[in-house]
Amino acid sequence: MPTPPEAARSRALVTTRHGGPEVLEILERELPKPGPGEVRVQLRAAALNHLDLWVRRGIPAGHWPVPIVPCADGAGVVDALGAGVVGLAVGDPVVLYPVRSCGNCTACRAGDPPHCKHFGMLGEHVDGCAQEHLVVPASSVLPKPAQLGWAEAAALPTTFLTAWRMLATTARLQPGETVVVHGASSGVGSAGIQVAKVLGARVIATARRDADLQRARELGANDVLRSDDPEWSRAARKLCPGGVDVVFEHIGGELFSASIRALRRGGRLVTCGATAGHQVDLDLRKIFFHSIAVLGSTMGSLAELETVVTLAGRGALRPEVGAVFPLREGRAAMQALEGRAHFGKIVLQVSDDEAPAAT
Ligand SMILES: [Zn+2]
Repeated sequence: MPTPPEAARSRALVTTRHGGPEVLEILERELPKPGPGEVRVQLRAAALNHLDLWVRRGIPAGHWPVPIVPCADGAGVVDALGAGVVGLAVGDPVVLYPVRSCGNCTACRAGDPPHCKHFGMLGEHVDGCAQEHLVVPASSVLPKPAQLGWAEAAALPTTFLTAWRMLATTARLQPGETVVVHGASSGVGSAGIQVAKVLGARVIATARRDADLQRARELGANDVLRSDDPEWSRAARKLCPGGVDVVFEHIGGELFSASIRALRRGGRLVTCGATAGHQVDLDLRKIFFHSIAVLGSTMGSLAELETVVTLAGRGALRPEVGAVFPLREGRAAMQALEGRAHFGKIVLQVSDDEAPAAT
């Protein structure tokens, strides 16, 4: 049988089964073809999220299908159009909306896929961006902000969309309010600092390393606190007498309970994750006596991502890239994510012909 031409093949980083980084392998696959209303994107960079760790480890058990290509986030160039696609051309640089949903329910029709029963992410139940080519609905790509490098563009969607929805939409953060942003060195934390500043708030950032606190200040944090100091919530109340207006939470564990104590009466805690533990010790008396609102938030809508992309295009938001690895070093990239030694996102350089901007 004749060998297919090289251009008809596409490389992908694949989580072949559940386990440690050793389950990641580079596999060659047939080049996908876009169907009606779809585009094929030649990816230049893809960004890792904690979701990729849960999927790879298979936690919770039975929830994640394998094999699967990781990375919800990606940026690249449109390289093929399906039938009926208008408004896009081959060669357009784009970032991907990382959400998948049914498209037909009340939430989807209202433009709010995070409330869809079939909500999911790229790299979760369908293949993600750690591959050279991905076919997606034409409606799910947005123009890449010109001043962002490929690595930065890939690092933008999930973290900034999540942070934007948490603070602007869910917690309704107001100009002049004070917000504690936890985990400043993480992708979503460094995004939270920038979004809070865009919204005109005063930011108290927390992290576990002094170097990360310094970087948080450079991103615009007005004050910084070590989150491993058991007295940090008391210190926050000293900086903001009466308590802070909002806490931006994504870590869980003990930090969650202490965050409730840092809030003023009538304050809001908004949470999108629990990387340090999802079972927390909560004194309900604080919640009702102090009229505390605990708000959950997941990802965001395409319209919210458009806002984020527009703000990034104006230079108001800029993703922090902690490290860039070539696609073939996907295992090392995931170990870097697990090691938490970097400030900002871990990014995979997907194509070899054009290096993404590393910072
Ligand atoms: Zn739906």
